Amino acid sequence: MRHSTFFVKSYGCQMNVYDSKKIISILENKGLKKNKDLENADLVVFNTCNIRDKAAHKLYSDIGRLNKYKKEKTIAVVGCVAQAENSEMFNKNKSIDIVLGPQSYHLLPQMIDDLKKNPKQINTEFIVNEKFDYLTEQKRKQGVSSYITIQEGCDKFCSFCVVPYTRGPEYSRPLKSLINEINILTDKGAKEIVLLGQNVNAYNTSYNGRKINIADLIEEISNNKKINRIRYTTSHPTNMSDDLINLHSTNKKLMPFLHLPVQSGSSNILRKMNRKYDTDYYLKIIERLKTVNPKIEISSDFIIGYPGETDSDFKKTLNLVDEIKFTQSYSFIYSPRPGTKSAVEKDETSLQIKKERLTILQERLKEIQFEFNKSFCGKSTDVLIENQSVSNPEYFFGRTPFMQSVYIKSQKMNPGEVKNVNISTCNHKNLYASY
Ligand code: SF4
Repeated sequence: MRHSTFFVKSYGCQMNVYDSKKIISILENKGLKKNKDLENADLVVFNTCNIRDKAAHKLYSDIGRLNKYKKEKTIAVVGCVAQAENSEMFNKNKSIDIVLGPQSYHLLPQMIDDLKKNPKQINTEFIVNEKFDYLTEQKRKQGVSSYITIQEGCDKFCSFCVVPYTRGPEYSRPLKSLINEINILTDKGAKEIVLLGQNVNAYNTSYNGRKINIADLIEEISNNKKINRIRYTTSHPTNMSDDLINLHSTNKKLMPFLHLPVQSGSSNILRKMNRKYDTDYYLKIIERLKTVNPKIEISSDFIIGYPGETDSDFKKTLNLVDEIKFTQSYSFIYSPRPGTKSAVEKDETSLQIKKERLTILQERLKEIQFEFNKSFCGKSTDVLIENQSVSNPEYFFGRTPFMQSVYIKSQKMNPGEVKNVNISTCNHKNLYASY
């Protein structure tokens, strides 16, 4: 089959969206052209996420819809569902041609060629360093805000999570290859570097016999004069070292906004989740962060309706939300993932109650986010301009130090500049200004 066009569909987490950009770049380097719609592409790549049950269901229903075009298409499933389900995927849907784990997607071009020899291709090995070496050599278009994976995998084994099984143990990329890649990104115009990892603050390597943690890495990156802003995500509370906390006071390029998932406000549920901290520990981390930098704002993830969550546990989550006042958050109803410890736990709470709890939590989070955004109205704030709106070219888009989206009405702004703008109005999601 001829492969001249492709389409990539992403399911799920930020890591997954980032991986999709890399896959697009790999395929463009092979000479394929990105197609706007899935129906007309020769190669369809489903980049999967296994964090929530719905994503896997959605994947199979999407593939099912493509069955009628099967003769004209190659279907590749890459990412965490591919890793977890492995060759079983070929039995579940005969249309699938390629199954590729998240550590091997740099092998995709070769596997496409090898389809001529063998119509079913599979690779689910953990070969992370080879993948990163390959990707660093790729020529990529990058934006003002560029993501770079510094760490993959997880050794924490939270009882609800598949990542330790699908992404393997924690692996940190060598310092030198990261600095090389960041230099390429800044030469192409990147002004903000977002360090990415499943457990990004567990970053741990050595260079010339010296141990390097994420705080050392951030210090090293901030020496690059072209960089204005540095962020890191996603962090685990137990890896918030003193070095890293103190850096939020001393390093002016490190933004005063931290995504630090707490998952629940109940220590009882945190213990069941095997999160390895309780609410007191989490609150102390926040207190230390606020002591070194009173301006810092926090965002979090919440899992609602974890097996055994009582009304009292849920109220503790609401109390924590009121105490910390998270300015952005992601919240979901718990869904059991096959192979995890929590999947076999008794769950007696009805879906109806879980939905009600989620609505209450989300309403409260929304109110707090709106209050926070309103506190910017009538004041000026620094915005890193990222791009001009395609649908509405009168507007430019950028972000504040606290990751708020800002739409600025202006005749001309240059992506990459930091502009101090007056915020005129807002809603819970966005701020608006003119310049
Ligand atoms: S820390 Fe827990 S939730 Fe995060 S990736 Fe590891 S096991 Fe999953």
